[in-house]
Amino acid sequence: MKNCKRCRQNKPTSDFRPDPRYRGGFGSWCMGCHRARNSLWAKENRARLTVKSAEWRAANPEKAAEAARKSSRKLKEKRAEYSSLWTRANRDKRRASSAKRKAARLRATPQWANLERIAEFYAKVPSGHDVDHIVPLVSPIVCGLHCEANLQYLPSAENQSKRNFRWPDMPRIENAQRQERLFA
Ligand SMILES: [Zn+2]
Repeated sequence: MKNCKRCRQNKPTSDFRPDPRYRGGFGSWCMGCHRARNSLWAKENRARLTVKSAEWRAANPEKAAEAARKSSRKLKEKRAEYSSLWTRANRDKRRASSAKRKAARLRATPQWANLERIAEFYAKVPSGHDVDHIVPLVSPIVCGLHCEANLQYLPSAENQSKRNFRWPDMPRIENAQRQERLFA
């Protein structure tokens, strides 16, 4: 056991940092006291820096405005850079999935489908909406058709959240969660 010089409590030596500069080979403050002191210091320092930078901004309004512009420009650049990296990384993925959708659409198009009316349906999609297949073309339990009767407009966000999980006369599924995993 060792007595902490700060909190004056007796604690096992494992609660003290080994420190060869001290007699006995351990620091005089327990770990808890070190932690408390560090977090207090960080808090005080943060408050002090906040006050200091507010004072500096008040004393140097033009420089402060310029600095703010610069940092917002930098942030914008960073975001643009990140988003272009993301786009590049995902372009191939998106190409592959759009090719897959196209192939599924071709396979699901019956000979009697009215291609003109389908094209018209796609051409007239209201803004903020997507064309959705009421019964999905690709799912483990059904294959909907790419025909005019199986098309509907859905608000874009809704279409994304639907993700082929549900349709009007969908067969009953005992374990819906398992089913959704299959679709995901
Ligand atoms: Zn202590």
